[in-house]
Amino acid sequence: MADISFTVVTRSPEETAALAERLGAAAEAGTVLCLVGDLGAGKTLFTQGFARGLGVTGEVTSPTFALMNQYNGRLPVTHFDLYRLDREEELDDIGFYEYAEDGRGVVLIEWADKFPDALPEPHIRLEIERGETENERRLTFSATEEDNALWRVLTEK
Ligand code: ADP
Ligand code: MG
Repeated sequence: MADISFTVVTRSPEETAALAERLGAAAEAGTVLCLVGDLGAGKTLFTQGFARGLGVTGEVTSPTFALMNQYNGRLPVTHFDLYRLDREEELDDIGFYEYAEDGRGVVLIEWADKFPDALPEPHIRLEIERGETENERRLTFSATEEDNALWRVLTEK
């Protein structure tokens, strides 16, 4: 399904946060990032860096219980965590489609792969996997179209 993918290996939380911050600084309205990876992979940490790059100054917390948090940066940031959601129909109840397809801001969705059919298109998928060592992570970005500010940042380094 994905036309292009790009992998970055990081070796510390700081390195992941710095990459996320650079991407957030470049993000454009309408960008949807679907975050995939086990508990503790770094989805929330990535989101925190990304939000900082977008100019969010307050604390960005995991919306595991709230399911959705919103922040105001240079663009509005909507952060979902679908971990505790059991049924796809519940997405309607939390206003998922309304916010995820809004297009005026940036949307990050943790545990996006739980409901693959519900995800807005186009989106960028970010899978975070653990590496060989404790603090190593492999971040694989994939998308269907390359003309995106995040791709330019990813591929310029
Ligand atoms: P998730 O949201 O995927 O469940 P979190 O972002 O809450 O995961 O937690 C990731 C944890 O992994 C943090 O404790 C972080 O310090 C740690 N960690 C270690 N190395 C890395 C790395 N290279 N990138 C991201 N997180 C890392
Ligand atoms: Mg999380």
